[in-house]
Amino acid sequence: MRDAYGASSLTSYVTYRQPVMRVGIGYDVHRLVGARKLILGGVEIPHELGLLGHSDADVLTHAICDAILGAAGLGDIGQHFPDTDPAYAGIDSLVLLDRVQALISADYAIQNVDSTVVAQRPKLAPYISRMRQRLAATLDISIHQINVKATTSEGLGFIGKEKAIAAQAIVCLVETR
Ligand SMILES: [Zn+2]
Repeated sequence: MRDAYGASSLTSYVTYRQPVMRVGIGYDVHRLVGARKLILGGVEIPHELGLLGHSDADVLTHAICDAILGAAGLGDIGQHFPDTDPAYAGIDSLVLLDRVQALISADYAIQNVDSTVVAQRPKLAPYISRMRQRLAATLDISIHQINVKATTSEGLGFIGKEKAIAAQAIVCLVETR
């Protein structure tokens, strides 16, 4: 009997076994308000509005946390770090990302992360390199393994009207067990 890899015995199956890859997606939105810092990908960005949330409301980092947890089949960020827990009030979201990485690091290595921030303003291009550096350092990966893109929503909808910023992320994990 042959298995999916064309191997004809358990021994050759083990020999030819490919590394298991798993992908996960993350999506998050936070409301833009006055008198809050704007933090994206662990970088503080000068702007008259900031994101509202229990933590520092770093929407990009939250989407990446959810993508990693999703790829590992470990639920979502709200289950691990409830927004009702005072321990997480105002917390730097890179601390949460570091904890998420610790949760998966025994079983998986991060192959790559891709992400998109959707914000009407401010222009994010000048900050993207720094975001990639901070996220890569937190995840203990190379800057070449993490991509951050920024786009607007062409003035349309709640993002276009500058009521909120959203982020999406996708992560590929490789099993290391
Ligand atoms: Zn969030």
